[in-house]
Amino acid sequence: MNELMKIGDDGKYHIVAMSGGKDSTAMALRLNEVEPREYNYVFTPTGDELPELFEHINRVSEMLGKKIYPISKVSLRGLIKKQNALPNFRMRWCTRMIKIIPYREFLAKLSATAPVVSYVGLRHDEQGRAGMAYADMDGIEMDFPMRRWGWGEGDVWNYLGKINVRIPERTDCARCYHQRLGEWWRLWKNHPDIFQDAIDQEDETGHTFRTKGRDTWPIKLVDLREKFNEGHAPRNSREMDLFNHTGGCRVCTL
Ligand code: SF4
Repeated sequence: MNELMKIGDDGKYHIVAMSGGKDSTAMALRLNEVEPREYNYVFTPTGDELPELFEHINRVSEMLGKKIYPISKVSLRGLIKKQNALPNFRMRWCTRMIKIIPYREFLAKLSATAPVVSYVGLRHDEQGRAGMAYADMDGIEMDFPMRRWGWGEGDVWNYLGKINVRIPERTDCARCYHQRLGEWWRLWKNHPDIFQDAIDQEDETGHTFRTKGRDTWPIKLVDLREKFNEGHAPRNSREMDLFNHTGGCRVCTL
């Protein structure tokens, strides 16, 4: 992977980290317009994303005229199998093992050969978020362009609207423990094969994706599916969060 990265005129690697979410998408496209240089685009898929995410990544790649390289070394499925456990609110190993550690290792290897600037799509209106701070690593400079530009969420949506870029409803895992009931309902409705696969994983590991106490619906997916099959649907599930999926892990939805 590292041999594919191109070095800029200033002798540095400029790495733009993307998740495919609205913020990293807007940052990558706008950076290319207003601060053009030899950027390298990377993302860390878990292998559990819905097909829409990869269609979106391909479209952004075409707009940028550059490949967006996946740098994950492990998949969510592989790790679940290896650990015989599902990630949940108490055991949040997935983001760290699939995204944060591989990205750190990637930056560490690159920075051993030349300084690296790592661009992250945190906005001006979320100053409280430290988010993916790799500044503790030697040779890594962090840059948050949207904070420099003073861009908040409204600016991101305005920009994406102007350039006619639509963000997929989901850019994170299809079976994330963070997801809301309405998202499980839509997974059951639109991707019954993935829902079944998640049921199988609950059976195999003896664990559940959903967390007790978050709502009054069945915890196990097999029981949840039975409720859905009976015609029960979470309130406003067809519309809920369609354009407002904000409950996910920030690393995974940036
Ligand atoms: S989207 Fe959810 S399950 Fe997937 S890596 Fe992120 S936190 Fe883990």
